[in-house]
Amino acid sequence: MEIPLDERPVALVIDDDSASRLLASSLLEETGFIVQLASDGLEGCEAFERFKPGIVLLDLVMPKMDGFSVCRRIRSSPAGEHLPVLMMTGLDDIDSINRGYQAGATDFITKPINWTILQHRLRYMWRGSLISYNLRKSEAKTRALVNALPDLLIQVGKNGVIQDIKFQDDNYRFFSPESLLHRRIDQVFPDDVSKPIMEHLGRALSNGEIQFFEHKLDLPEGLHHYEWRIVNSGSDEALAIVRDITERKLTQEKIALLAYQDPLTGLLNRHSFKEHLNQALNQAKRRGHYVGTLFLDLDRFKRINDTLGYNVGDILLQGVADRIQDCIRKGDCTARQVSDPSTGSISRLGGDEFTILLPEIKQVQDSGKVAQRIMESLSRPFVVAGHEVFVTASMGITIYPLDGEDADSLLKNADSAMYNAKEQGRNNYQFYSESMNASSLKRLALETSMRKALDREEFVLYYQPQINVVSGKTVGMEALIRWNHPQMGLVQPLDFIPLAEETGLIVSIGEWVMCAACIRNKALVEMGLEPRRVAVNISSLQFRPYSLVSMIRKALDLSGLNPEFLELELTESSIMKNMEVSSKILIELKSMGVGLAIDDFGTGYSSLAYLKRFPLDVLKIDRSFIKGIPEDQDSAAIAAAIIAMAHTLNLKVVAEGVETEEQLSFLRGQGCDEIQGFLFSPALPPDEIEVYLRREAKAGLSEKKRNRVE
Ligand code: C2E
Ligand code: MG
Ligand code: MG
Repeated sequence: MEIPLDERPVALVIDDDSASRLLASSLLEETGFIVQLASDGLEGCEAFERFKPGIVLLDLVMPKMDGFSVCRRIRSSPAGEHLPVLMMTGLDDIDSINRGYQAGATDFITKPINWTILQHRLRYMWRGSLISYNLRKSEAKTRALVNALPDLLIQVGKNGVIQDIKFQDDNYRFFSPESLLHRRIDQVFPDDVSKPIMEHLGRALSNGEIQFFEHKLDLPEGLHHYEWRIVNSGSDEALAIVRDITERKLTQEKIALLAYQDPLTGLLNRHSFKEHLNQALNQAKRRGHYVGTLFLDLDRFKRINDTLGYNVGDILLQGVADRIQDCIRKGDCTARQVSDPSTGSISRLGGDEFTILLPEIKQVQDSGKVAQRIMESLSRPFVVAGHEVFVTASMGITIYPLDGEDADSLLKNADSAMYNAKEQGRNNYQFYSESMNASSLKRLALETSMRKALDREEFVLYYQPQINVVSGKTVGMEALIRWNHPQMGLVQPLDFIPLAEETGLIVSIGEWVMCAACIRNKALVEMGLEPRRVAVNISSLQFRPYSLVSMIRKALDLSGLNPEFLELELTESSIMKNMEVSSKILIELKSMGVGLAIDDFGTGYSSLAYLKRFPLDVLKIDRSFIKGIPEDQDSAAIAAAIIAMAHTLNLKVVAEGVETEEQLSFLRGQGCDEIQGFLFSPALPPDEIEVYLRREAKAGLSEKKRNRVE
């Protein structure tokens, strides 16, 4: 700027007195200056322009132009604005001193001049001028820097009051000086923003470390992201440098999408699918469930591309992606109630290949159901650009941990299973492991035929007598379903009830059972037999508010059976699911007059507290406890305890699966009320139970007759 720092500075002496000039000159040279001399004001001004001095020694009274004018001239030039100018005045000439200051002099020295003092003065002035020069330079730099910053700068006090702000970018319109200045942070920003600002401010002030954080702000023109850096700027204040990073965030999001998504369908890409699969595997390892991976490839997709063009092909792929998504997200409600394979991730690996992740499946077969669902959904035609297009898909399925431990091998094996499906004639799915294909086919066949069994009236109810221990009379019977399968013969409930529950078919089957049992029981009475209870098993899927009560009411109305001759066998697990709801259902059933029994007692939830809470009538001790009696002391002790406890709660006890006299006598000894088991009779087909009951009635009659005779 005005002082060439790298050289020796020039000192300009302007004085009309030649002796003074001489003295000053030798003194200044000694001090380290290069000296230039001028003998009047005008000459002085010219020398100033020519030599650009670093310091000026100026006499006041001179010919042509006096010292005041020279000083003013120097100050008005850019090079002289900050130049140290030392004026030489007469002693006591206060008026001249005042005028000199007004003209811009830096300092004064009085004549006669003490040359030693002058030498020191000049040194100090020179040093001062250097310091002020450096200061001005650094200030200018800072100013330039601040002006160049796109950021918003906020000076904020410890108490959160904004003391100063600086911004120049449109991005900070929200932060107008009027809205910010002298207000507290929490008056300007919403809570979720002002709290972290204050926390970071506190930290910056207490530990002096620069604090970073980001936040979002919902502005009228849209969501903005900001990054804050808070620096301690001394004495309980901090400087916050706020930057609008909305653009950067949007770009990051876009990059993330590109990195994780298939741009055509919006599904995951291969990379992110593998990530999801790995996560699912880690979780499955911890929790011990299955993970299904489906590999789907459209059949003959190339033909569509070749004949209808790539545009149609692309639209079709999007349509396929949508349908797969629908199958996974919504699915078939009835099937999903029972075992929901959990919403999975779907990806397009490229071309016409898709993969589907089923992160949590309870049964291996569930993945087959999903594949089936996808096949059915794809079988509806697609309408693309006026064309009706039909597609089918071949799918391969792998199951963790059966078909691989890691993402790569599960995908590779699913791919090869998919090829197997192509070889099988396309439009089908194949498990990677052959054994699963076989069992899955069997199940599928069973499920399909079960759906038809109701219409074809293939179900039959058998009845197993329940005998009163004291009187030896049949006081009730349990209705037990059988399936008269056209090819497989008589199928036992344990072989199809679980599948019926899984598919949700149990609800309609159960409805049929209820009606058939009530109608049959009523018919037996109408045939002249003594009225007795029929017990009907209720699956946990049927145990729902409204539907269960209304279903039972319908069966009672239809059959005309007195509700006191109907007993419902409920499982512990179904009534324990939701105590509140169960309690309501049970109270309503009770008020209808039907009996309530807990089936298989002892195998489920072991809390006895609920027994008191619900209006129950009967406990059925599970067969597993009866089996070991009398040798197995544990079983015997449990059975005895259940009987005693049930009686204190005023519940009747029925023992299931009684096969021997020893079991009967033990149970009798414990005061068990009723017995059901092969010792008396297995479950009998409808006509045989009638024969059984008639025979018993007859025997009872003859016994009565005999009693009368005796
Ligand atoms: P459950 O309700 O505990 O029925 C008792 C089961 O024990 C019946 O088997 C019965 O035949 C068998 N059993 C009776 N006495 C003896 C015996 O002395 N020894 C042996 N080893 N077994 C005996 P079943 O008929 O095979 O039924 C099995 C299960 O299927 C039933 O257990 C019940 O949970 C279910 N079930 C049967 N019918 C229906 C139905 O209509 N609806 C529903 N939801 N479930 C049913
Ligand atoms: Mg039962
Ligand atoms: Mg039972």
